[in-house]
Amino acid sequence: MKKRTYQIILLLLIIGIISIRLFYQKPNLYRKVDYLLGTYVEVAIYQKPKRARILADSTFNLMRKYEKILSSHIPNSEVYNINHSDRNSIKISSETSDLIRKSEEISKLTSGAFDITVGKICNRCDFVENFYPNQAEIKELLPYVDYRKIRVSNDSLYKESKGIEIDLGGIAKGYIIDKAIEFLRDEEIDKGFINVGGDMFLLDNNNPDKWKIGIQHPRDKGEIFATISVNNKSVVTSGDYERYFIKDGMRYHHIINPKTGMPANDLVSVTVIADKACLADALSTAVFVMGLENGLNLIDSIPDIDAFIIWEKNDKLNYKMSDGFDRYLIDVK
Ligand code: FAD
Ligand code: MG
Repeated sequence: MKKRTYQIILLLLIIGIISIRLFYQKPNLYRKVDYLLGTYVEVAIYQKPKRARILADSTFNLMRKYEKILSSHIPNSEVYNINHSDRNSIKISSETSDLIRKSEEISKLTSGAFDITVGKICNRCDFVENFYPNQAEIKELLPYVDYRKIRVSNDSLYKESKGIEIDLGGIAKGYIIDKAIEFLRDEEIDKGFINVGGDMFLLDNNNPDKWKIGIQHPRDKGEIFATISVNNKSVVTSGDYERYFIKDGMRYHHIINPKTGMPANDLVSVTVIADKACLADALSTAVFVMGLENGLNLIDSIPDIDAFIIWEKNDKLNYKMSDGFDRYLIDVK
């Protein structure tokens, strides 16, 4: 009998210690990395470890849900079906129509510099096999590139011609980041970040000294070009140094001028800071196509949006920033 009592006391003691440890677990920054959206994604949550782990897994599951709908790479995703349909009108979910409507707004705002129908050309590039369509092929593809030839009505996408293809690669990462941050905020997380291949949202409601991050050096992979400090903002960069190859002295990359069908080559990197990652993502791509002057004029005309633009001349890198950007800038290396 005595032995039994000891066992029960011991068990109660162990349960007591575990629950005290769990209860007094200190919150810290829990970080988890996984591969999705064609890149490495990091979710960082400042919370007690057990809860942080659960929330990080739910955040990844949420992002995977959107990847399955919006990827042009996954057979039978909605975007894949839009691009392979032999009909002019295709049923789409509210998420896809929401994002296509947002894309259309940005296309109008940027006079067509941002245009998801470049998918017709993007889907024929291969930056692993160093393939970019030649002039004759571009000439054939260009008639399908025009955002005014698609429209969303109710729960369908209407394509003026069946051959039109879309590519949400320039806006969907930002859109998915915003959905993830919305989820974390609903779970009352007030410190952490989401990093999707360098496109980030940095969440920190109650810490004055902000997050310090680097802008990737566009011509020196391991180096940082500038460091900035931000809080509760998204920071998104578009650059010609990730998906590219050089042939006959020309850099072929994945940010396409919808008017010419060729890679936009005035700039080498555009970083946009905004409250919403979706807007930052699309504007970084658009400004990259618009070039320095038109791009900066556009950014300076929109409140609470800032940009840091890098271009190359005679092998020398130059930079310019929007009027309000210096409040984030720590230094340029
Ligand atoms: P940004 O500068 O933000 O945008 C460039 C991208 O936008 C281009 O890659 C093209 O997609 C598009 N674009 C180019 N020019 C224009 C223009 N003028 N207007 C509008 N859009 C333009 N990559 C993989 O390799 N495999 C995958 O399975 C894969 N799945 C993905 C699933 C989703 C849901 C998303 C959002 C992306 C996925 N990606 C995948 C990555 C994707 O193909 C792009 O490479 C990536 O989104 C480019 O992001 P970025 O910020 O580097 O480029
Ligand atoms: Mg982007």
